[in-house]
Amino acid sequence: MLFTLFLATSLAVLATTLPTINTDGYAPSSIVTRDVCIIGGGSTGTYSAISLHDKGISVVVIEAQDRLGGHTNTYTDPNTNETIDYGVVLFHNISVVNNYFARFNIPLTKAVLSSPGETSTYVDFQTGKIVAGYTPNDPTAALAAYAAQLAQYPYLETGFVLPDSVPADLLLPFGDFVTKYALQDMVGFLFQFAQGLGDLLSQLTLYVFKNFGLSVLQGVQNGFLTTLDQDNSEIYVKALAVLGQDVLLTSHVLAVDRSASSSGGCVKVLVQTPQGVKLILAKKLILTIPPKLHNLEGFDLSTEETSLFLQFQNSAYYTGLLRGTKIPDLTTVNNIGAATQYNLPILPAAYSITPTRVPGLHDVKFGSANALPDEQVKADIIASVNRINAARIFNSTAEPEFAVFASHTPFELTVPKEAIEGGFYKSLYMLQGTRETWYTGAAWHTHDSSLLWVFTEGVLQGVLEGL
Ligand SMILES: Cc1cc2nc3c(=O)[nH]c(=O)nc-3n(C[C@H](O)[C@H](O)[C@H](O)COP(=O)(O)OP(=O)(O)OC[C@H]3O[C@@H](n4cnc5c(N)ncnc54)[C@H](O)[C@@H]3O)c2cc1C
Repeated sequence: MLFTLFLATSLAVLATTLPTINTDGYAPSSIVTRDVCIIGGGSTGTYSAISLHDKGISVVVIEAQDRLGGHTNTYTDPNTNETIDYGVVLFHNISVVNNYFARFNIPLTKAVLSSPGETSTYVDFQTGKIVAGYTPNDPTAALAAYAAQLAQYPYLETGFVLPDSVPADLLLPFGDFVTKYALQDMVGFLFQFAQGLGDLLSQLTLYVFKNFGLSVLQGVQNGFLTTLDQDNSEIYVKALAVLGQDVLLTSHVLAVDRSASSSGGCVKVLVQTPQGVKLILAKKLILTIPPKLHNLEGFDLSTEETSLFLQFQNSAYYTGLLRGTKIPDLTTVNNIGAATQYNLPILPAAYSITPTRVPGLHDVKFGSANALPDEQVKADIIASVNRINAARIFNSTAEPEFAVFASHTPFELTVPKEAIEGGFYKSLYMLQGTRETWYTGAAWHTHDSSLLWVFTEGVLQGVLEGL
């Protein structure tokens, strides 16, 4: 009831006149006319652009950052020239992945999840001390039981097409699901593998299943792919070279006007670029950005779009590379709660500090149920390493510092149980194609590039109709 009241009040506040764009007065050099305008040049935006480009469809991509790639981050070590992927690393061995990388002549190889000789240490980052007597549970039997549960919901592998009556188990907080099906022994493993879900035990089982689904389980069992050069950004550098002027980097949308689209007119998008304001006239729009309202300012959102996007909550996820930790190379330090349920650390906190192929450089991942300022996250990580140093586990007084850091927030977009029961995802999917607007990206399926490219192929079929 409270939720409905909140929604109604918020919608009333947001119900303003939709903006329209007057196309008069733009110099021809400022007008970009394309078949499709794609907003967001990360995983699904770049995939969409290349797929359409290769079919002879003209596109323009609007990307906020100064590069393509979104959650893909690659660092080149200045001393060794070695590359390290500290964002997206793993892909599934499926045709869409193999074809996409082959398109750019980028060889793939089986990913090595831990190097020979690698060891793990279990430390409570709040104290910096080794958790005495802690050894991780063997998750094998619990993972098999989890897989048996997951197998009941094959439709989760392809999207959010849920039955009208959503199975009650999917709407249980994951902590209750764990207890119900005696999955305790896999919780520690899952927490480290399926990072970014926020508070794992209170997250709905649906979102845990989406994030750690059958394909991921198969990958855990049979292996994942990654680029041979450990440079997952290469595909985005090459995509940018193919798309050239059709990508507007460091650009943001000022206004979107789809008022003429229902009568066969263009979608109009006004964009601030480093070269000035551009007016884009396109037959269709593909949105790949996280559909949070603050990220859609200037868009002529309908009441339906607003009412749906308003409901998204999100977790927060951060990544970086640390030097000067003096954690030995080939050593992973996992954050363990000394006195917490399943020994899970209380977020916000670092998940773990793991070695990279460059000696002296460690990867760190940090999670939170809510967005935090970057400086606070960095300070929290440095404080954790200092506590580990102070506890003299590795006999060091070194000063840790970031070689590089990236925020990937907002991460996991979720809606409350009541919204899911009320048909949220059915309504969300009904938006596909309305006012010549199509949607893809993690909020529409899952945080998994391989599966998102499969999903995007389906969306592009709709986009192509009528072009
Ligand atoms: C640290 C980390 C590790 C990961 N590891 C893996 C992995 O190993 N394997 C895997 O499959 N997946 C991994 N993921 C999941 C990954 O998030 C998804 O696979 C994928 O990137 C989601 O694609 P997307 O297109 O929805 O979003 P993104 O790739 O994030 O693309 C969205 C793009 O939109 C841009 N943007 C946002 N707002 C605007 C705006 N208003 N205007 C213009 N542009 C905007 C962003 O800058 C970004 O480039 C990882 C994620 C993170 C954060």
